[in-house]
Amino acid sequence: MGAAEVEAVVVGAGIAGLAAALELQGAGCEVFVIDPADRPGGVMRTDHVNGYVVERGPNTTQVKPPMRAFLEERRLQEYLRAAQPASRLRFVYRDEALERVPMSPLALARTPLLSAKAKLRLLAEPFIGRRRGGEESVAEFVGRRLGPEVVTGMVGPFLTGVYAGDEDRLGARAVFPGLVDLEDRYGSITLGGFVGALSRRGPKGLRGSWGGQAGFGPFARRLADQLAEPPALGSRVMAVGRDGAQLRVEVTSANGDLDLSARRVVVAAPAPEAAQVIRALDGDASRALEEIVYAPIASIPLGVDPADVRQPIEGFGFLVPRDAKLSLLGCLFMSELFPGRAPEGRQLLHCMLGGVRWPEAADVSEDLLVERAIADVDRVLGLRGAPEKLGVARWVRAIPQPGRNHRARVDFAQARLADPSPAVALAGAYVAGVSVADALASGIAAARRTLTL
Ligand SMILES: Cc1cc2nc3c(=O)[nH]c(=O)nc-3n(C[C@H](O)[C@H](O)[C@H](O)COP(=O)(O)OP(=O)(O)OC[C@H]3O[C@@H](n4cnc5c(N)ncnc54)[C@H](O)[C@@H]3O)c2cc1C
Repeated sequence: MGAAEVEAVVVGAGIAGLAAALELQGAGCEVFVIDPADRPGGVMRTDHVNGYVVERGPNTTQVKPPMRAFLEERRLQEYLRAAQPASRLRFVYRDEALERVPMSPLALARTPLLSAKAKLRLLAEPFIGRRRGGEESVAEFVGRRLGPEVVTGMVGPFLTGVYAGDEDRLGARAVFPGLVDLEDRYGSITLGGFVGALSRRGPKGLRGSWGGQAGFGPFARRLADQLAEPPALGSRVMAVGRDGAQLRVEVTSANGDLDLSARRVVVAAPAPEAAQVIRALDGDASRALEEIVYAPIASIPLGVDPADVRQPIEGFGFLVPRDAKLSLLGCLFMSELFPGRAPEGRQLLHCMLGGVRWPEAADVSEDLLVERAIADVDRVLGLRGAPEKLGVARWVRAIPQPGRNHRARVDFAQARLADPSPAVALAGAYVAGVSVADALASGIAAARRTLTL
């Protein structure tokens, strides 16, 4: 049977796939987006429960320069909403108390998160020699340059918040590419950062943290609405192969199977699914993606009456270092960040459990997850009454964990797929950063690769 001819196919309608599709459409291509889910957005999902607006996936994002330019060009920035300025107030749970994360040099000098010795050690950073040998973990890189207390007291909790991962396994070059580049270029991240700040030019992102105006689910839907051809939901790409000068995309759905013949394909599915899709195209690239591991996350929103919470609910929320031995990775104060996300007189707390610290969170009962979330929030914030349970979202493969040599692995797979043309490019959270902004930027970059290859 002949395949239907299309110009471009995007595999996956998460933020990476939607960005790729809009970028291809902007370049004049007719694009087909395919996703097995029943709505666009991938892990971006927003529900309304008992008057609360609950995010099941991401809660906030930075808006980096590519995301800002992308949204402004399409007049989509109005679907985002800035978090309240108080979101700069962030906490780490340490020694049974919430300590403010230092956000300025003066605050760093005063923070109890580091000992006096550790603060003095920071001053030695410009005199530390360059790395020798292979790639380092984040713990090795930051520990060598800034001292071990910065790893456990500050960077560890940060990695928990962003990756649900840990400093010993995550690779420095994948997680902090800018800092590793500064060491490569200037021999010091402090001096390099100083030089960079003096000479910084070029496009800027938006300041602060951002959420969807009505949540990230509706934000994704707005992006999908911009496509001339709506995403084919309930359909899955089984394989991409070569067919002479074209790419052949095998699609299956409840209505039957369909083959598409395309000139360009962006694969914006998570790494394990992407590995399957490209297996027939290139076994080595597929095996490289299979090695990428993910951490699970359970998102557990709780509604509370602030009068029933002993600690004030203010700022962004708090993160929990692994030595605190809680199940909770962190808790965001969502209705403080975005007023209106909780009914009048209530607050919305968003708890995250799981990660590499507690991978069994992917399998245990929902009741146990909620029980643990409430027990840990009680320990940190002090609860007088029972909080309102607003459901559980469990993502078995939530966040990719880029280890040492991750970038080389992804570059290798991209290069294999680009040769020979026609063009296939990879996009998604495992490609160049796990945040919403980075996944979106990876979609734009992948679309451009297929246009230029
Ligand atoms: C619980 C949670 C909380 C998070 N919190 C934050 C946060 O606060 N801030 C932040 O910046 N980031 C956060 N992240 C990370 C960020 O949301 C994600 O990294 C990003 O949204 C991933 O986008 P994506 O398009 O790469 O992948 P996804 O959203 O996973 O989309 C991939 C799509 O591919 C589809 N697909 C899979 N296989 C196929 C196939 N064979 N054919 C067709 N389609 C297929 C899937 O159905 C899915 O829709 C969070 C993630 C999770 C899970």
